[in-house]
Amino acid sequence: MTGEASAIPAPIGLLAELTHRCPLRCPYCSNPHELEKRSAELPTETWLRVLGEAAELGVLHVHLSGGEPTARADIVEITAHCARLGLYSNLITSGVGAALGKLDALAEVGLDHVQLSVQGAEPATAERIGGMPGAHAQKLAFAERVRELGLALTLNAVIHRGNIAEVEAMIDLALAMGARRLEIAHAQYYGWGLLNRAALMPARADVVRSIAAVDAARKCLAGRLVIDLVVPDYYARYPKACAGGWGRRLINVTPSGRALPCHAAETIPDLAFWSVAEHALRDIWHHSPAFNAFRGTGWMPEPCRSCDRREQDWGGCRCQALALTGDAAATDPACALSPFHATMRATAEAEAAAELPPGYRYRGKRSGVRREGLLPG
Ligand code: SF4
Ligand code: SF4
Repeated sequence: MTGEASAIPAPIGLLAELTHRCPLRCPYCSNPHELEKRSAELPTETWLRVLGEAAELGVLHVHLSGGEPTARADIVEITAHCARLGLYSNLITSGVGAALGKLDALAEVGLDHVQLSVQGAEPATAERIGGMPGAHAQKLAFAERVRELGLALTLNAVIHRGNIAEVEAMIDLALAMGARRLEIAHAQYYGWGLLNRAALMPARADVVRSIAAVDAARKCLAGRLVIDLVVPDYYARYPKACAGGWGRRLINVTPSGRALPCHAAETIPDLAFWSVAEHALRDIWHHSPAFNAFRGTGWMPEPCRSCDRREQDWGGCRCQALALTGDAAATDPACALSPFHATMRATAEAEAAAELPPGYRYRGKRSGVRREGLLPG
């Protein structure tokens, strides 16, 4: 559906992927397989202009992300500009590398919120998954400084076969770190996650146990810690509203400036992604072919077209539909009404049941180069 510009509500969030550089190499990383090089990254002045355009368009939240956003030399300047514009800034960080050294300056210029990723609750697990010795201690020191500075902290834990046994320990870790919110987010299987899916897929029984642990903790910790839970699509009955619905709430800008409706949208071939280097953000939001390709409900096939839930989940994830059915416009197979749903579930169960050979190797990234690493068995 293309829609009249006036009928399209303003986006709420801008996900600014400032760089793909990162000291870690998580096997489910949402960055693309072909990472954008440092030399292709947008210059500071372009990001400052884009932030001004975002504020003018009606964006409220800016998520400063990556890769590791503190790898950018201008992260403090960019954050300060968010504050000047009245944009709520959220630093999405691994807490390693340059992060701690820049935290005081970021707080000083008005950073509003920190979202810290953890790869596991136990140092050995976390460091095997993230591929960086010493990372866990760096994250603890980073979280302590966040607390000392009085910044709001959310912990984000991506859950998969390699760390699902540590969900309760991650809740304890969030409390120890002084987080107000914890996201227990089961891995999404596109991009690097899809490449490593066979090694990451948890067993259904473990998923059920982890959900029960979260439910119990929510009751005990009401008023102390908010726990968000993202369940795995492969064991779900209905899909999630991907990015809040295609072209409805979020603009994702890649390090080199391409504007995407969700961070994995470039896996869909033949979509034209306009660049913020060549187009104003308002123009992109209202008129770019990629944002209009799956906006609204007019593009939907059956069973979505006549389904009561079509304006709740917006048909689910287009990237997952393409990856599993070969058709980006198909109903997300996470939906029980999709003809591919049973195959998706059977694939998950078969992969989760398979033993990983000792020394199993997964694909990971580091600073623009694909590396190989050991997945915890
Ligand atoms: S490698 Fe890990 S920490 Fe780095 S950007 Fe990817 S998911 Fe985030
Ligand atoms: S048929 Fe489509 S709209 Fe209905 S629940 Fe499934 S994915 Fe959502």
